[in-house]
Amino acid sequence: MPSSSHRARTLEPVQELHDAPLAPLTTFRLGGPAARLVTATTDDEVIATVREADATGTPLLVIGGGSNLVIGDKGFDGTALRIATTGFVLDGTRLELAAGEVWTDAVARTVEAGLAGVECLAGIPGSAGATPIQNVGAYGQEVSATIAEVVAYDRRAEETVTLTGAECAFSYRHSRFKADPDRYVVLRVRFALEDADGLSAPVRYAETARALGVEVGDRVPLATVRETVLKLRAGKGMVLDPEDHDTWSAGSFFTNPILDPDAYDAFLARVAERLGADVVPPAFPAGDDGRIKTSAAWLIDKAGFTKGYGHGPARISTKHTLALTNRGEATTEDLLALAREVVAGVRDAFGITLVNEPVTVGVSI
Ligand SMILES: Cc1cc2nc3c(=O)[nH]c(=O)nc-3n(C[C@H](O)[C@H](O)[C@H](O)COP(=O)(O)OP(=O)(O)OC[C@H]3O[C@@H](n4cnc5c(N)ncnc54)[C@H](O)[C@@H]3O)c2cc1C
Repeated sequence: MPSSSHRARTLEPVQELHDAPLAPLTTFRLGGPAARLVTATTDDEVIATVREADATGTPLLVIGGGSNLVIGDKGFDGTALRIATTGFVLDGTRLELAAGEVWTDAVARTVEAGLAGVECLAGIPGSAGATPIQNVGAYGQEVSATIAEVVAYDRRAEETVTLTGAECAFSYRHSRFKADPDRYVVLRVRFALEDADGLSAPVRYAETARALGVEVGDRVPLATVRETVLKLRAGKGMVLDPEDHDTWSAGSFFTNPILDPDAYDAFLARVAERLGADVVPPAFPAGDDGRIKTSAAWLIDKAGFTKGYGHGPARISTKHTLALTNRGEATTEDLLALAREVVAGVRDAFGITLVNEPVTVGVSI
């Protein structure tokens, strides 16, 4: 029997505000107001709002948990659509989540239900519907491994479509949705989880295995993995805490660079020149074509931007070099100035141009 739940939902018509502040809807707490803010609690409300915006040529900004968004200080001159739909339906090992479900709560419930596949993604803020957008990942898991289908409203075809996992074209922090950002609004995400008798998927990440005291490839009780991941994340400021400015961020601000073999050799030469021939940067194979992924956090640190770096109200987290943070009084321009400084510093030091992970709205780095 499928088990399902829906949080209490108001029966009022779709909620609509004008000249509405967007900063409180983001984890950076940054950005100006939206001309119009609609909060949709059903798929029909989502679709009606999108159709209306498209029919009138109004710019549309879809917002989930606002944990991967950098909104400009001028705000958004269009309709911001906050997805607040609910629905958690578990049928055997198949899970369907409404886009507005809180991702980390859904992960906790899969662990409670004894199902493996997303336990290492505990603590990632934001909504279920945003997880396919950048193929969220952490500690050796990515949602691409368990997403069976995504139900989305296709703004070009003007209809609801169901895409298989393969059709989502997932790759590292990327997908069909990110490649074509104005086309799809995700309504539901369907996962195929695994029943491994209360054990996790094989642990893939060395840091997690070390913390658990097991070997990479071992399976461990699900709840233990989830708790260990949450503890590791909290130590890096990667679990939301309103009291802790290190978490007023978008998590990792830059993606890890993936270099082809020639670019990697040029990078190694720069490392040797700057830091000495015996220094070996982090390197991981990225696919079958010889490309290599290195660490953005390492590059930032070795370029001289250490934890806590910054001169104003936007600074690098005191717990992790890869997170840029708002210390409380920052503006988006402060944050962008810091991001540009880091990008330029890393480029000067190592010849690599970092790419931002969060989505920018009305601004660029
Ligand atoms: C402290 C912290 C830690 C983090 N750790 C990680 C991590 O470990 N791994 C990781 O991958 N990410 C991480 N992130 C980034 C972020 O949490 C994820 O990218 C998350 O999936 C964003 O979800 P959201 O609902 O907040 O999206 P939002 O920030 O609201 O939106 C992000 C983008 O997705 C689009 N979008 C949102 N919902 C939909 C929808 N239903 N349909 C279509 N488009 C949509 C938005 O338009 C926007 O372009 C972290 C962020 C923070 C603040």
